[in-house]
Amino acid sequence: MAKTPTDKPKIATRLVSAGRRPEWTGSVVNPPVWRASTHLYADMAALKDGPKRNEDGRFFYGRRGAPTQWALAEALTEIEPGAAGTILYPSGVAALAGALMAVLKAGDVLLITDNAYDPTRAMGIGLLTDFGVETRFFDPLDPASLEAGICERSRAVLLEAPGSLTMEVQDVPALAAIARRHGLVSVFDNTWASPLGFPALERGIDITVMSLSKHVGGHSDLMMGAASAGEKFYAVLRKRAQQLGQVVSPDDAALALRGLRTLGIRLRQETSSALEIAEWLRSRPEVAHVLCPMLPGAPGHEVWARDFTGGCGLFSFVFKGGDAASRARFVDALSLFGIGYSWGGFESLVVPVDPAPIRAVTPWPPAGWNPTDRFGLRLAIGLEDPTDLIADLERGFAAL
Ligand SMILES: *Cc1c(COP(=O)(O)O)cnc(C)c1O
Repeated sequence: MAKTPTDKPKIATRLVSAGRRPEWTGSVVNPPVWRASTHLYADMAALKDGPKRNEDGRFFYGRRGAPTQWALAEALTEIEPGAAGTILYPSGVAALAGALMAVLKAGDVLLITDNAYDPTRAMGIGLLTDFGVETRFFDPLDPASLEAGICERSRAVLLEAPGSLTMEVQDVPALAAIARRHGLVSVFDNTWASPLGFPALERGIDITVMSLSKHVGGHSDLMMGAASAGEKFYAVLRKRAQQLGQVVSPDDAALALRGLRTLGIRLRQETSSALEIAEWLRSRPEVAHVLCPMLPGAPGHEVWARDFTGGCGLFSFVFKGGDAASRARFVDALSLFGIGYSWGGFESLVVPVDPAPIRAVTPWPPAGWNPTDRFGLRLAIGLEDPTDLIADLERGFAAL
């Protein structure tokens, strides 16, 4: 019987089966780690036929991957509605560079949201400038600001929601529509929500990028990135990735696949704990702002609730007044939160939020806030019991 669309398994089911083709797994559950550089051809006729055909799933040479990497790429494509394919990169930053370098050329203008991940900004104003691309920043919360920055040379726009550190939730469908109307390619950093929480291509985005080092790996032990797109842009990404020689190790691909199987339950648990902790923080007299879009009443919640289908454990909060020293006392009193960049692992982390020096067009603290409320922290809530995490944060407040 032919499958009807309603037969398509739910996401939790797809996370279990995605990429596990029998020809890749053999008789075991997981695709084995296929360590390979060289393809040996049976005879001259096979050699003549082999290297000429550049197709997915056809082993040619290690740089184009082997079944372990293909299984991961296919699994990511299966959980990304609207994707025709996925390219793997050695880090999330490499994935962003791969996507931007696939769609930009000398003379083009790139528009970047002002709340983007700092290395993304640096890519615009450092790397791409050297190749003749001009970068302009726009206000993440003001679609008119994007529109105003567009000119004849504009070629691509980079969006991110919620914004790194400051958690503004952009109106992605509106911004993607503006990009499309002006013939710009839209690239979206979906590391925060993953396709489980934000089906980016369905919301109008052309290329969606994720750092797999965060939630997909999930265990703070690997670096990887991915970019997924529909037919047209998948072909563009694939060509550039091959030209740049991008490849990931099969060992890391196997680890990422292992992480992917439990992505759904980890995100659900993180989200629930983060909401509990965010709610508690909001009740504290020492806190001026809780920047957690999943929390009703918090900045960006309405747009988040409209466009997102899930969240994660990453959010920020800002102290009422205080200074860098009081914030440092708070952090140093914590014992369950590790002090460290990155996030998306099973363990909780904390880092300071100080975006003022890097902002180009939007101020920090934002307009309308008391200017002394500017010392923030970003929390990555892991899988510990939230009651213990709250007790830890209480020790931080006691040390303020
Ligand atoms: C960490 C991160 C990246 C970069 O990923 P790496 O794998 O560390 O290179 C990109 N975007 C966001 C939002 C991130 O948090």
